[in-house]
Amino acid sequence: MLALLALCGCTQNGAPGETPSASPQAVGEADATPQEIMFFAMDTIMQLKAYGENAQEGLQAAQEEIDRLEQLFSHTLEGSDISRINAGGGAAVTVSEETAQLLARTLEIGASTDGALNSFLYPLVAAYGFPTQEYRVPSEEERLRLLELADASAVTVDTGTAAVTLGLPGMGVTVGAVAKGYASQRAADLLREYGVTSALLTLGGNIQAVGAKPDGTPWRVAVQDPFSDDGFVGVLSATDCAVITSGGYQRYFEVEENGETVRYHHILDPKTGLPAYNGLSSVTIVTDDGYLGDALSTALFVMGLDQAAAYWRAQGGFEAVLVTDDGTVYLTEGLADLYEPSEGFEQVQIIAR
Ligand code: ADP
Ligand code: MG
Repeated sequence: MLALLALCGCTQNGAPGETPSASPQAVGEADATPQEIMFFAMDTIMQLKAYGENAQEGLQAAQEEIDRLEQLFSHTLEGSDISRINAGGGAAVTVSEETAQLLARTLEIGASTDGALNSFLYPLVAAYGFPTQEYRVPSEEERLRLLELADASAVTVDTGTAAVTLGLPGMGVTVGAVAKGYASQRAADLLREYGVTSALLTLGGNIQAVGAKPDGTPWRVAVQDPFSDDGFVGVLSATDCAVITSGGYQRYFEVEENGETVRYHHILDPKTGLPAYNGLSSVTIVTDDGYLGDALSTALFVMGLDQAAAYWRAQGGFEAVLVTDDGTVYLTEGLADLYEPSEGFEQVQIIAR
């Protein structure tokens, strides 16, 4: 379930990634003991680790913040802002300022990615059974009908009054593609407010590095091998940034179709309503802004390699690791010196500006 493993303390005597562990440890600082909490929220396991004086209070505040955001953003908890919007039958619903702002930004990134990020696919996501895990494949007729409801142009978000109008009866929204990145950013910012200068937050596939390890060297974050349960394609050095991955291997179900096993994963191509299959197995975004990282990991996964590279060249503000279905690892050039490949994944290509 964890798309990325935090790898730390494994550089003393060998290659990175030899001892993958979700438990970061300071290298060369025997007395630096981390505070650590682990809990389940937003449908995933979260593991937060922090060092220093205020670590414990900071971690507690971070967990409370994540829980607070889940109460706003969940599409399954009754009474959350998102559930109330979905129950509104397409009419205006007043939500918290924070939810309105999150949705406004999601619309902006939806537009800038040519619709690759589309948070209004919820009725279709639900038809596949992802929220309930009662999986099924909708008929073509149902798929196309629900796809028509994923019309971002029907939506208005008034950030002044915090009113959200979906616009079409039957429409629905999920912020599943961005909520964890937003939450990890808020948690990291809170820890900084508590004076914490060294922490590593793992929220499912999302990592946030606060500062560096206590000894001053960068955190080491593994990029999961999309083709195996426990391997990783390489290791990134990360300081004060978000490292966020999306992939078709994270949540999926399989069905037999014409004697073949077909995989249906949870990231849908808004052009077809089918799981996105554009030659990419995973996309990892490295950026200062967790929300952006989460939005773009999903959007670039939908786009495929060429469009993703073009988007990176045009927009900037982030770096990416893209793993194609044949196991080739593509790095945007800003990561060239921050990445070490694992055995079996030495095939690394640099995407230049
Ligand atoms: P994860 O939540 O596992 O980290 P993502 O951030 O990629 O993965 O978000 C995937 C979730 O977003 C899906 O479970 C679904 O609810 C929703 N979703 C699926 N396709 C899209 C899309 N094209 N744009 C926006 N949200 C999507
Ligand atoms: Mg995402």
